[in-house]
Amino acid sequence: MNIKENLLKVQENVENALTRSGRKNETINIIAVTKTVDVDIINEGISLGINNIGENKVQEIQKKYDNINDDVNWHMIGHLQSNKVKYIIDKVNLIHSLDRLSLAKEINKRAKAKDIAKDVLIQVNISEEKSKFGLKKEEVVPFIEKILEMENIRVKGLMTMAPYAENPEEIRYVFRNLRNLGYEIENRNYENVEMKYLSMGMSNDYEVAIEEGSNMVRIGAALFGKRTY
Ligand SMILES: *Cc1c(COP(=O)(O)O)cnc(C)c1O
Repeated sequence: MNIKENLLKVQENVENALTRSGRKNETINIIAVTKTVDVDIINEGISLGINNIGENKVQEIQKKYDNINDDVNWHMIGHLQSNKVKYIIDKVNLIHSLDRLSLAKEINKRAKAKDIAKDVLIQVNISEEKSKFGLKKEEVVPFIEKILEMENIRVKGLMTMAPYAENPEEIRYVFRNLRNLGYEIENRNYENVEMKYLSMGMSNDYEVAIEEGSNMVRIGAALFGKRTY
């Protein structure tokens, strides 16, 4: 495994997907998904230019946090239990997995106690796969309206995970639907709600996701090799 080569390849694919979709001048936030990856390797990646890392478990963030070089943004991309919010509230820059009211309340409470506003994305289960977390598409607007008065939460966009597909063309609709939902929310002009980020696309499907408007991709295996858990 050569992280440098992998990173260059991903960056090249990202640029090509942007060009194909007529968005040449835009930038895509590449979140390096570092779950199960050792800190030495993560730090090597950071020295090569990775500046966003994503983890899906609170415990893993706690374990690695002090040993990761400073200049990096942390992203919580996995399912988040309310009782663990307190451990990461001042560690992660963006929570991608807000999917229920009880979690919103807890994030708001913990952020308020630290006198910060926490940036979050709302996770949407576009494909309605049973195994996936996230709100259904039609639940998102009512959900946002319920959390509007939570002053220490800032909604910055939407996140989705597409089902695995051998051919990513089969899941293009997932990304398109999330983008359209983002437009719909944007048009409602809610105060303190921005559709700045669409977090969609993983190793297997990020090029299609970018073609459909993603500006934040979460890439693990394509950078660090296949996980063996
Ligand atoms: C593991 C994970 C990824 C990255 O998956 P790869 O296929 O390794 O790129 C992206 N998003 C979430 C939420 C994940 O848990």
